[in-house]
Amino acid sequence: MSVQSHIEWTDATWNPIRGCTKISPGCKHCYAETFAERFRGVKGHPYEQGFDIRLVPEKLAEPLRWRTPKMIFVNSMSDLFHDQIPEGYIAEVAGVMCAAKWHTYQVLTKRSGRLRRLLNTTLAFAADQPHIWWGVSVEDRKYGVPRIDDLRATEAAVRFLSVEPLIGDVGILNLKGIHWVIVGGESGHGARYMHRDWVI
Ligand code: SF4
Repeated sequence: MSVQSHIEWTDATWNPIRGCTKISPGCKHCYAETFAERFRGVKGHPYEQGFDIRLVPEKLAEPLRWRTPKMIFVNSMSDLFHDQIPEGYIAEVAGVMCAAKWHTYQVLTKRSGRLRRLLNTTLAFAADQPHIWWGVSVEDRKYGVPRIDDLRATEAAVRFLSVEPLIGDVGILNLKGIHWVIVGGESGHGARYMHRDWVI
């Protein structure tokens, strides 16, 4: 969305793709969709097409132009591993992350099956780079927890979990091979309840 980010755990966001579709309960109140749809039809606005998926090749080289090292959240307004994103384009995104290696990148997905497949094949060149952190969302037991095994089955140098919005009891998570975990509840209008014990 922008260079400055309001997300606590990152410095900047980089969106070479815009738009997404919902895949699991964690998507119910997707902030990216709410933001993007606000501008649907606004001529000349980056989100003129709302939350429809589209590639933004003119944004690809952005990290190469940012000379100061940053913590960059990749695709805060999309999901890099969405099945409508061509594999070649995902490889281009990974290529930029490998080239602009003075930054640290956080790539977060709910499409863990595709992440697993591509990190073990087409994206193997980027999988084990310590400045690229690969992560999955874990909102509940049914959809979220199985993503952890997909992530663990990759050669990623840094693996992380975004356990948010935590909307159910996920039990005791197996954190073997996981380097960093973010936990949080939902916020905003209609936010779903998070029990303290689920966090502990
Ligand atoms: S995967 Fe992420 S960006 Fe896509 S709809 Fe779900 S919450 Fe929104």
